[in-house]
Amino acid sequence: MPFKSLQIIEPILQSLQEEGYSTPTPIQAQAIPIVLDGTDLLGCAQTGTGKTAAFAIPILQLLATTQTFDRRKKIRSLILTPTRELAIQIGESFKNYGRHTKLSYTVIFGGVNQFSQVQVLQRGVDILVATPGRLLDLMNQGFISLRDIEIFVLDEADCMLDMGFIHDVKKVLAALPHKRQSLFFSATMPPEIVKLADTILKNPKKVEIAPGQPTVDIIEQFIYFVDKGNKSSLLMDVLSDQSIKSALVFTRTKHGADKVVKDLLRHNIKAEAIHGNKAQNARQRALSNFKDQTTRVLVATDIAARGIDVDQMEFVLNYELPNIPETYVHRIGRTGRAGAKGTAFSFCDAEEKAYLRDIEKLIRKKIPVVENHPYPLIDHNPVKAPKHQHQQRPQRTDSRPKPENAIKDRHRLVRNPRSN
Ligand code: AMP
Repeated sequence: MPFKSLQIIEPILQSLQEEGYSTPTPIQAQAIPIVLDGTDLLGCAQTGTGKTAAFAIPILQLLATTQTFDRRKKIRSLILTPTRELAIQIGESFKNYGRHTKLSYTVIFGGVNQFSQVQVLQRGVDILVATPGRLLDLMNQGFISLRDIEIFVLDEADCMLDMGFIHDVKKVLAALPHKRQSLFFSATMPPEIVKLADTILKNPKKVEIAPGQPTVDIIEQFIYFVDKGNKSSLLMDVLSDQSIKSALVFTRTKHGADKVVKDLLRHNIKAEAIHGNKAQNARQRALSNFKDQTTRVLVATDIAARGIDVDQMEFVLNYELPNIPETYVHRIGRTGRAGAKGTAFSFCDAEEKAYLRDIEKLIRKKIPVVENHPYPLIDHNPVKAPKHQHQQRPQRTDSRPKPENAIKDRHRLVRNPRSN
C-alpha cells in the first residue's frame, strides 16, 4: 500500500518520496488515518517502527490544511518527549516531512543557553518539540503559551515516568486547552501508563504493534556469560571482529561508560561516550562522529541513548544488563530499525542473572547463549556456599534456539550450563 492511499497531501508525499519512503510501516498505516480523522490515539509501539512519522505526517497535514496566516503565529502542536536527542530527532522529522509545507517548527531542551530558543519562539512557530524541564521553564518566564494547542503528543510515556518526569508532565497537561486532540505513545503499557493515558485521552483508538512481543523480531540476540572482571577483555575480543564496523555499547552508569571508553582507546579502538554529564554539544559531536563512522564505538547510558537513531546500525552491545527489563527492549531497539538487520550482544555476570530472567520473561523467549568464548563465567554464584558443603549444580537440558549467523562460527553455541 503506498502512502498515497492514506490520502496524504502532495507536498508531504513529495518529501516522503525524497526521504526514500515507499510504503508506510504498520504503525503508520494504522495511525495516520486515525489522526487525520481528528481522533485521539493510544499507540503502543516498540522503537524503530516508524512511530515518529506516524504522528509527524498527519500533524503536518492537519495543520497545513487548516493553516491561517495570522500575523502572529501561535503554537498549534506540542510534542513532549523525554530526552534532548529524541527532541532533536523528532524536530528533524518535522523538518524533513514538512519541507514543502509552509509550517514552521522548533525544538527546545535544557542543558544549553535558552537565548536562541527564545529568539525562534518570539518569531513564532506552528509546531514545538520540547523536553518537559525546559518547556516549563520557558512557560514560567512567559515565553511560551500553550493556549492555542490543537494537537498534543506525549512521546515515550513509559520513559517519562522512568525518568521521574511525571510531575512535569502533569503541569504541562494542566496548561493545555481542554479541547484538543491528544496522541499518546509508549513502548510498554504497565498499569501506571494506562492510568496516565486515561487522564489525557478522550475515546482514543488503540494501535498496538506486535502486542505482547516487544522485542523487534528481526534482531538476533545473544548472551555471553562472563565474570565482571573479564568484561573489558571480552569486549575487545568481540570487537576484534572487523566485520563489526560500528557498535553502540550500553553501560548502566556514566562512570562505567567513561571507563569502557578509556579501555577501548587503550586498545586503539576509536570510542566516545554519550551520557548526562557531557555537555550538549559534546553529546551531539559524539553522535555525529558515530553516525559518520569516524568513531567506531559509541558508549552510552540509557538516558542519553533514548533518542539515538542511526541508519543501519547493526550492533548493540549490553556491557551491563539493565535492571529494568523494558530498558533492554529499548536498547536493542536501536538496531534493526525499520526492518533493517540487527544483532544485540549482552554480557551477563553472575549478579546479573536475575536481570536476564526478567528480560526473558518480558520478551517471552530464551536468548541464545554464546559458549566457548575466551572468557567464560567461572563464578556462577555471587554468594558462595561454605566450602565444606558439597553443592551440586543443577543440570538443565537446553531448549535454546541456535544462532543462525556468523557468530556461530566464531563462538560455538553448546549446551547451556546456566544455573539460574
Ligand atoms: P522511529 O521508530 O520513528 O524512530 O523510526 C525508525 C526509523 O525508520 C527512522 O530512521 C526513520 O527514518 C525510518 N522510517 C520511518 N518510516 C519509514 C518508512 N515508511 N519507510 C522507510 N523508513 C522509515
